[in-house]
Amino acid sequence: MTTPQHLAGNLLRVRESIAAACGRARRDPRDVTMVAVTKTASVEAIRALVDLGVDDLGESRVQQLQERAAELAALPGRAVRWHMIGHLQRNKIKAVLDAGVESFHSVDSLRLAEELNERAERMGKRLSLMIQVNCSREPQKFGVAVGAATFLAEMLASLKHVRLTGLMTMGPLSDDPEASRPSFARLRELMDDMHRDGIGGPELRHLSMGMSHDHAVAIEEGATIVRIGSALFAGC
Ligand SMILES: *Cc1c(COP(=O)(O)O)cnc(C)c1O
Repeated sequence: MTTPQHLAGNLLRVRESIAAACGRARRDPRDVTMVAVTKTASVEAIRALVDLGVDDLGESRVQQLQERAAELAALPGRAVRWHMIGHLQRNKIKAVLDAGVESFHSVDSLRLAEELNERAERMGKRLSLMIQVNCSREPQKFGVAVGAATFLAEMLASLKHVRLTGLMTMGPLSDDPEASRPSFARLRELMDDMHRDGIGGPELRHLSMGMSHDHAVAIEEGATIVRIGSALFAGC
């Protein structure tokens, strides 16, 4: 059953957990953005969450993103920002841009970035890109190797219609949130290295890391964006 009260309770718990993690890390909760990942949610539940004040929404699959963005756009009210957080094939770029997406968390090749740049130029847009890094070295996962991320970041600097705003990673497949800590720490070190070496400019400041089960660890390690799905929509 989707009830706004149930969603409100979930949202409150997630926000409290984010605030508690910020407290432990002596960080300002305003420096952590929650992207609500809608892949398991109904349009009614998404709408109710938006009404509760959440305006950053994320999807990992192109078709779901298209459908949901269209259904939400048809409803009057708050404007939302959609984030593409999943692996993106080049032949789907146009569809995602047509759906209004301007933020991409999972760029993992120069060709993908170049094509996003070309499309953005044609549409008169400037897109925010994050590089997905495979910090846990799990072979089945998407993302560039840690050692290749710096090169990709340097190449992105020459593309005028995209800007590199951050790095993204996923923890290893595990129920234990602590299993993610080394990957999250590695991503933060990687961004620190880039800053030190003058790569990426001032807009490179986001770490998109942490999901429902490991967002607290991610915040302790410096996440500025957490991507939360099941903890928000469970039971809805
Ligand atoms: C599904 C998904 C999430 C959210 O996962 P939950 O465990 O439901 O919070 C975050 N990031 C990506 C890339 C995802 O695919």
